[in-house]
This record gives sequence, structure tokens and C-alpha cells, in this order.
Amino acid sequence: MKRHNYSFKFEEISLNPSHIGKLLDYDKGDDKEIISYLIDEVLNEAAGSCDIRAEFVIYPEIEFDSDTGSMIIGGIEFNPGKIISAQLRKAESVALFACTAGQWIGDKAKQLINGKDYLKGYIFDIAGSEIVEAAAELMQEKLREMMEAEGLKITNRYSPGYCGWNVSEQHKLFSLMPDNFCGITLNESALMTPIKSVSGVIGIGSQVKINPYPCNICDIKDCIYRKLKEQKQ
Ligand code: SF4
Repeated sequence: MKRHNYSFKFEEISLNPSHIGKLLDYDKGDDKEIISYLIDEVLNEAAGSCDIRAEFVIYPEIEFDSDTGSMIIGGIEFNPGKIISAQLRKAESVALFACTAGQWIGDKAKQLINGKDYLKGYIFDIAGSEIVEAAAELMQEKLREMMEAEGLKITNRYSPGYCGWNVSEQHKLFSLMPDNFCGITLNESALMTPIKSVSGVIGIGSQVKINPYPCNICDIKDCIYRKLKEQKQ
């Protein structure tokens, strides 16, 4: 199975510092200037230290059981829940992916928080999450271009732990990934190391599409991820 791996430079990923301010809920008021300064300082430090990587492999087949909503990839049955199943149902193949912002930024956030520099530690923590999401976005764009050249389209990306997909299924996902996939390991609680990492699936096919507003079709109104997405818009 062909592995597609990438090492991204910090300048290649699209990060918006004002998103970090919004997530901190400090994008207005008297503290705005000092917070903007700290965010810039954190991002400058992260630019020189983060090891940003992404990898995907393509499984040529994906099957669905319409009765149970389960999907089968590489002989393994997943139960991603009805929201994700509905989005992937028309996929003919699937990309399994992982991305990471590297070990450094998670360690830095932890070290600052342990040293009671809570604000800067929290900014590093949010920046790490934003960096890995931006890396996933860029990896997804590389996949989209690759598939477009073959006349195919892709879906949104979906990860265990989101939209009703139990995080424990990350173990099944990693069992399908080649060794040392993106340099990420998984512990028994399905937590990834480095901590600022993300993994998941993207559907591929001639009849699938990217849904720009996936939360609009979902009736879970108090979902924290919906709120985070709205804060970013
Ligand atoms: S609101 Fe959005 S993020 Fe939350 S479960 Fe629904 S689709 Fe997923």
C-alpha cells in the first residue's frame, strides 16, 4: 500500500492568529493588545520548533451495512454513527490519515502550565491544536488535488471522538495503518502521542462531496465542536 507522507513548513500551513484570540475569548476588550502580542510571540516560537507532518494511505474499498450504519474497511467493522455514515455512504474508497504538530508544542504547553504560566501555556495548547488542524487541511487539499486528477472527489474528514464516533475506534483505525504511521503512537486509552495529533478517514468517489456546513444537518445543538466551529467563522 502506497504511503503518502508530507513534512510541512510552518509557512505552508494557513494559520489565522485571530482564531486563537477568539478561542481564548480575548478578541475584544482592554487585554486585546497584550494577548495579540503573546499569540504572535507563541507563533514565532512555534514556527522554529514544530515538526509538522501528515500521512495518508488509500484503502480501495469501503462497504456499508445500511441496517446497522456500520462501515467495513480492510475487513474491520467500524461504527462511526449516523452523522458520519450519512456523509461517507457514497464513497467507493477511503483515505486513512494522520497529522501531527510534533512533540515539542504539547510539551511546551504542559511545561508552562506546570510552571503556573497558565495564560501562555494555554495559548501554546490552543496554537498546537490550530497547527494540527491547519496541517490536516493542507493534507486534505493534497488528497483532493490527487483525486481530482483521477476524476474523483472527496468528503470532509472525520475522526474518532467526533460527531458520535467513539474515540475507542481509533485502535481499529491504527490497526489498518502501516507501522510508525506519521510517527504517531496510540496508548490504551486511545490517546495519541504526540498529543497534538489528529487521525481519521476521508471518503473518495465520483458521487461524494465536501459539505461546507456539516453541522447544519446535525440536530445536536449543544455540541462543543459546533460552538468551536462557529467561533472560528
Ligand atoms: S454539531 Fe457538528 S461537530 Fe457536533 S456532532 Fe453535529 S456535525 Fe459533529
